[in-house]
Amino acid sequence: MVRIRPTIETSLRISSEIDPKPVRIRFFGVRGSFQGDDQRIGHHTSCIVIEYGDSITICDTGSGVRNFGAEIMQEYTMRGREVRVNVLYTHMHGDHTFGLPSFDPLFSPKTHMHFIGGTHTFKRESHDGTIETWEETVHETLQRQILVEPTFPINYRELPCKRTFQLVRPGERFTIPSSYGDIVVDCDIMNHPGRAYGYRFHFGNDKVLALVLDHEHEPEKPEFDQKILRLCDRATLTIGEVQYTKRFYDGHMPNGISFRKGWGHMWAEAAARQFEEARTTHVITTHHEPKFGLPEVTEIVRTINETTGIRTDYAFQSMEVTL
Ligand SMILES: [Zn+2]
Repeated sequence: MVRIRPTIETSLRISSEIDPKPVRIRFFGVRGSFQGDDQRIGHHTSCIVIEYGDSITICDTGSGVRNFGAEIMQEYTMRGREVRVNVLYTHMHGDHTFGLPSFDPLFSPKTHMHFIGGTHTFKRESHDGTIETWEETVHETLQRQILVEPTFPINYRELPCKRTFQLVRPGERFTIPSSYGDIVVDCDIMNHPGRAYGYRFHFGNDKVLALVLDHEHEPEKPEFDQKILRLCDRATLTIGEVQYTKRFYDGHMPNGISFRKGWGHMWAEAAARQFEEARTTHVITTHHEPKFGLPEVTEIVRTINETTGIRTDYAFQSMEVTL
């Protein structure tokens, strides 16, 4: 088993003290779109690490992944053996991927990186000058856009770590092996530019974690996305993005900040109604707007809690949750 020293003091325990198979969830990056300033929340972009028995799953490699990489390197020094790390992508936007080159284990032959993710749609100008749309896998994105010159000096093909890939499809159920038994995971597409994936993790028979990061409920739509409601349905814990207040989403903020409709993110009132409809029991908000400090993030939590009665906390960098 890989044992990693805890780096934080503030923690939240949802399971009982005697649970023999706890799920450890740590937040290494909680900002959305770009890095933020308020240190009480943290500045790094999306990175959540889930540990269950001997399995490590990094959900997105925003800039927060660098600190987790330092922990794993310490493990190499102590144990001197290969560490397998699952990297599960919600989507390939920069705030969820561009921290990867700062993840030191990537440059060690003792690392086995297992990338899991879905296909994405986007437009690119092809060599003959026409615009075409196609699907691109996680593999191809890393190779063509992130770990390649002139973006980065080291080429993806030269990395010494072992790399394997797993493509998941919308509506598909897959498993992540662990010494506590397989983690069963459902995945589906969410409304986000270029698409993003939400995940529903089953740990044993009684614990469900819903992870629904980047998505948007368009105000003119009368109903919430059934796929998201299914992912969150009666989850033990839902980690959901709620990037905006309604006035920020609508553009009623000082300094002429324009509205955010179509950017693919949630605002507090819509998120509250969605979580209530999904009958989730506990929400942790994340993917905080970089311009927001503690007052705005707290306001979002209060809005969800007061309108739904659902226990709601905000994620902050170095937060640890035991499920
Ligand atoms: Zn994002």
